[in-house]
Amino acid sequence: MVLHTDHAVVLGASLGGLMAARILSDTYAQVTLIERDVLDPSPEPRKGVPQGRHAHMLLARGREAMEELFAGLTDELVALGVPKVDVQSQIRWISDGRTLAHRPSGLVALGSSRPLLESRIRARVLAIPNLKVLDGCEVSGLLGSIRDDSVIGVRLLRNGEQGPGEKLYADLVLDATGRAARGVSWMQALGFPVPETETVEVGLVYGTRLYRRDPSMMTTNTVMSPAFPRVGAMLAQEGDRWIVTLGGVNGDAAPLDHEGYTAYAATLSAPIVYDVIRDAEPLSDPVRMRYPACARRRYERLPHVPEGYLAYGDAITSFSPTYGQGMTSSACQALALRDCLQEGLDALPRRFYKAAADIIDIPWSIAANGDGRLPGVPGKQSPQVRLMNTYLDQVWKAGSRDPDVSAAFLRVVNLMEPPQSLLRPSTALRVLRGSLLASHRGASSRNPLIRPRIQ
Ligand SMILES: Cc1cc2nc3c(=O)[nH]c(=O)nc-3n(C[C@H](O)[C@H](O)[C@H](O)COP(=O)(O)OP(=O)(O)OC[C@H]3O[C@@H](n4cnc5c(N)ncnc54)[C@H](O)[C@@H]3O)c2cc1C
Repeated sequence: MVLHTDHAVVLGASLGGLMAARILSDTYAQVTLIERDVLDPSPEPRKGVPQGRHAHMLLARGREAMEELFAGLTDELVALGVPKVDVQSQIRWISDGRTLAHRPSGLVALGSSRPLLESRIRARVLAIPNLKVLDGCEVSGLLGSIRDDSVIGVRLLRNGEQGPGEKLYADLVLDATGRAARGVSWMQALGFPVPETETVEVGLVYGTRLYRRDPSMMTTNTVMSPAFPRVGAMLAQEGDRWIVTLGGVNGDAAPLDHEGYTAYAATLSAPIVYDVIRDAEPLSDPVRMRYPACARRRYERLPHVPEGYLAYGDAITSFSPTYGQGMTSSACQALALRDCLQEGLDALPRRFYKAAADIIDIPWSIAANGDGRLPGVPGKQSPQVRLMNTYLDQVWKAGSRDPDVSAAFLRVVNLMEPPQSLLRPSTALRVLRGSLLASHRGASSRNPLIRPRIQ
């Protein structure tokens, strides 16, 4: 039997759960946030969010959405030393030795560490009067009513206890337990339909280390190369630090000793990371994280969606980390949830999944199509995708000479515009002209700073 509790339960108090809880507290009389980790107010990495030790870029669209959810967040973070960077004039985007042309864009990204960002957002959410947090508590399953076709609560294990768990009833259970979410098996156990899952097995391995940064160096650098698929991100962070993340696909891992790690940086398609870290003071040992596959659970395609349960954030889609889209997708989903709630509670899951799919489609296509072309990543690409990837190579070539093309491309990368915007006639003409010129000049037109060092 469905009990009307005016209570929403949010599973997982990471960024996704926190942003969703903030929205739900406007509609439900009581919101309970349940988190397996014991939460500490200090901005330190924690067990349940292992990716928090690695570089996280907050894209311009994500920053805007978070600012809409938490007014003044950008200024609060900047006051704590977080670099605020213009995405075109203060980030070097380098692919195959070509750097996108610089010019102020007005689009702002933040160089906050993942733990600091989460801790500031958590402080705001925990101050909401009708919200309480149960940390150190694990959800072990869902309560359901087949007769009412609804999820009606969760089973909760407090402080490491065993057994079936106590029952906690709610009108809505929002599952933000991340990419390893067990929501699908929980729904299956109750006899509810479950979504199909699409995966891209990228076999990504990240190796990350912190270095001291000269405070005058605010630039952020990303280096990639589809032909030689290793990535490097060197992001200016609070505390006058660089966070350097080196990544390879198909299990290609950066060594964790000092010499091996530095030598791996030297193999990127541009030496910019190596040139800094060979002399910089390390502030931590390198740490590693494996990310086997990106996954998209197709809740929006379910022929029948039970009431009372919503998957959210990475529990719906875990994007390839190198494109930096996960936090932005979660923040945009919070705004979509707000809009859905403003239209009432009827068929909320179905309406939310449709809105979330509209948000996810673009970043998923950018990342899945980009990763799908990497050597050794399984899966076939359609002729349209191959054509678009070829066009994007030309966009990058042209964008290395033409700031207008660079600006148009970075609006797509930062999820401000869809990829189709790059096909507008005015942009397409500039792309054609610029890529012809770049090809004509060949590698000699590339930034002289950029010398690939393959060891
Ligand atoms: C290596 C890596 C790099 C990334 N880089 C970027 C980037 O540069 N930019 C970007 O925007 N995004 C990035 N992301 C994605 C980003 O980290 C996530 O999108 C973001 O954390 C939001 O995820 P989430 O809240 O949905 O889930 P998560 O952050 O995974 O959090 C899940 C939470 O649920 C809790 N939990 C799990 N199970 C239970 C349970 N049974 N009961 C109670 N609590 C539970 C966990 O402890 C955790 O707190 C990256 C991801 C990875 C893996």
